[in-house]
Amino acid sequence: MIDVDTVKSDFPILQTTMNEEPLVYLDNAATTQKPQVVLEAINQYYMQENANIYRGIYQIAEKTTEKFETVRKQVSTFVNSASEREIIFTKGTTQALNWIAQGYFLDKIHPGDEIVLSYLEHHSNLIPWQQLAQKTGATLKFIPLNEDGDLDLMAAKEIINSQTALVAITHVSNVLGVVTPIAELSRLAHENNALIVVDGAQSVPHHQLDVRKLDIDFLAFSGHKMLAPTGIGVLYGKMEYLKEMRPIEFGGEMISKVGLTEATFKPIPWCFEAGTQHIAGVIGLGAALTYLTNIGMDNIETYEQELTSYALEKLSSISGIEIYGEKAKHKSSIISFNLTGIHAHDAATVLDLQGIALRAGHHCAQPLMKYLQIQASLRVSFYFYNTKQDVDRLVTALLKTKEYFE
Ligand code: PLP
Repeated sequence: MIDVDTVKSDFPILQTTMNEEPLVYLDNAATTQKPQVVLEAINQYYMQENANIYRGIYQIAEKTTEKFETVRKQVSTFVNSASEREIIFTKGTTQALNWIAQGYFLDKIHPGDEIVLSYLEHHSNLIPWQQLAQKTGATLKFIPLNEDGDLDLMAAKEIINSQTALVAITHVSNVLGVVTPIAELSRLAHENNALIVVDGAQSVPHHQLDVRKLDIDFLAFSGHKMLAPTGIGVLYGKMEYLKEMRPIEFGGEMISKVGLTEATFKPIPWCFEAGTQHIAGVIGLGAALTYLTNIGMDNIETYEQELTSYALEKLSSISGIEIYGEKAKHKSSIISFNLTGIHAHDAATVLDLQGIALRAGHHCAQPLMKYLQIQASLRVSFYFYNTKQDVDRLVTALLKTKEYFE
């Protein structure tokens, strides 16, 4: 079980105020807060161990290189990859997905091939595939949602067929919190000789994801959505596919021998990591993974499920609220809604005055907004440091917001 008071006290920002009210931070799908241990790990690196990796023969350079590679092993254990060499550090989910599209699929996709996505996709798992389809002559297909708001698996079985070259899909929608059935989609893709790419930005931080159990070919996620700093993320790929992936960036550190007219590259994964890496980010990610593992990903998921059910019950008692995808059977800890007659941006401004930080807008998912026939929504997204009191504060603030506009 999670001792949420202790957990909350680990996060300096959660002790602060916003507009003279204690901060209630409910925008964890955008980015999460950082615990003291992560901040200290970064600080210690800069104050006592700052050196570039791989290059130095002196003590702190060697120590930092060792720490960097230890985090690669930690990430590998966290997602249960077959080898730490299947873990490549990137700037985040967006860069990882672009590298997968350009570095692997550009050479593999042919005119007439189909790329299967869903209506849930964040722009980061849509635009790279649009670009790829435009360059290769492939066609994009979209799996719809069923009446409850879950991914329509019956439709998926029709859409994924022998024309399919790849299924690129989010594991959790950043707008509706809907969880997609990755195990089934992976099976369907593989039965049709296609590969599956999973956008894990909203699932890896909240759920014990196992790339081997789900038989995922490529996975992308971001450190900043799981307690680590911004600018660090992960690209996981099965070794058999990484062997056929081209680096997208070239330069220092990724090479083994360089002549004036050609160069050879280091082995996987280092051939993909050109230039000086975000060393502090990787060290911060390592501290974040240790913190998450100590709490336990299963505990985190159970706690967030209970909190989300509580929030759904409280929110649905507000008159004039419309909650999107409320009936979905497979939900994570994200809830999107609108208050009738109040624009999401106006509501968010009044909520901010009451110390509530949440997101309003299209959430980088404009096609999904169109599908839902709305312009924008309010979105609350929880992490394990949120409490029922936070939900109560939100509900009170929403009621006041309604009064304000009446
Ligand atoms: N995919 C999903 C589902 C997301 O929610 C996000 C960010 O909100 C991204 C991709 C992009 O992540 P990043 O901006 O860290 O690259």
